[in-house]
Amino acid sequence: MAELSPVLKQATPVLAARGEGVYLFDEQDRRYLDFTAGIGVTSTGHCHPEVVAAAQRQVGTLIHGQYTTVMHRPLLDLTDRLGDVLPQGLDRLFYVNSGSEAVEASVRLARQATGRQNVVAFAGGFHGRTMGAASLTSSGVKVRAGIGPMMPGVAFTPFPESYRHGISEAEAVRSALAEFDQLLATVTSPKDTAAVIVEPVLGEGGYIPAPPAFLEGLRERADRHGILLILDEVQTGVGRTGRFWGHEHSAIAPDILITAKGLASGFPLSAIAAGSELMGRAWPGSQGGTYGGNAVAAAAALATLDVVRDEKLVDNAAEQGRRLAEGLRKVAAEHPVIGDVRGLGLMLGNEFTTEDGRPDTDTATRAHAAAAEKGLLLLTCGPHGNVVRMIPPLIVTAEQVDAALELWQEAV
Ligand code: PLP
Repeated sequence: MAELSPVLKQATPVLAARGEGVYLFDEQDRRYLDFTAGIGVTSTGHCHPEVVAAAQRQVGTLIHGQYTTVMHRPLLDLTDRLGDVLPQGLDRLFYVNSGSEAVEASVRLARQATGRQNVVAFAGGFHGRTMGAASLTSSGVKVRAGIGPMMPGVAFTPFPESYRHGISEAEAVRSALAEFDQLLATVTSPKDTAAVIVEPVLGEGGYIPAPPAFLEGLRERADRHGILLILDEVQTGVGRTGRFWGHEHSAIAPDILITAKGLASGFPLSAIAAGSELMGRAWPGSQGGTYGGNAVAAAAALATLDVVRDEKLVDNAAEQGRRLAEGLRKVAAEHPVIGDVRGLGLMLGNEFTTEDGRPDTDTATRAHAAAAEKGLLLLTCGPHGNVVRMIPPLIVTAEQVDAALELWQEAV
């Protein structure tokens, strides 16, 4: 007999037996509206028939062909397909298995390509749990607690947070960019700075979209100083925000883009994309891993991209995201404990605050648990765990959004 370690802290008591579309079913066949999507992973819903068929076909053909030994067709085809949706010029890709690994790979690439060591990351940012990724993460104290020393060469600077500071977005952007400039002037000089890594929507940090002017300010500074801009689109990629990439809400493109979660509808796969000149400055053989770019995951990703295109899931994310945000704002208007509703597309957060504006983690936790009891699975996030977030599969319908809103209203 053995038991699962308590380090795997479970947010709900649900024991999932099967999944279908936006629904999960437990072992008693009780149905839950899954507005967590496996933390933004099951983009096409649970067990989309086309993804299932593609994976099943691939399982019977070739499960694993390690890409530094032999190449396989699903990965070549996926790379070709990603070329259709990536920003122009980001036409060289490689693959690993998870968001954290992709983050580490992007830093490795940036350091090799520039010969510089330091990386600037943002307060409240989340980039994963492996040592290097946790070193770039400042949200979620538990990710770093008791594991130091962390990777050296990381400098943190504030992300623009207008709601929390009670200032306008423009003011928040001005202040965050001024802090960034100050960091380069005092802590990490441009000649030592390889990259700046940022999420288009601060995810675990509280679902705070980066204002377009902020990303544009970072782009301008990166160009001026020869610093590489890494966009961590692990959570925001593949249609989640109502555009194919989260950064498409602004006028910029990154030097390095990483994506994972929604890419393969639940199969472990992450991708790192950059231009050929930049990729050419990396050392061949220094990246990758045994399971990276697995053939079944690649086939599932190809099917996912087909479904996203054919079922117009990016547009659906935008449309249902608007509907959900509107409904959430109505609930918040009746319940002042929800101080802010924000996000992009189907990546929406409800921030719980006390009357005097402090984080109300207790009420957020109770609302989250009450929703689960009523059959609506949600997640919390934010540095105080006081943001209840909703991140349903991109296939969600208007009826399912309305059903979730009804359950949320009752839970709150
Ligand atoms: N980057 C972002 C923006 C994330 O949201 C996450 C996970 O939530 C990661 C990186 C880490 O990804 P993984 O858990 O697949 O290692």
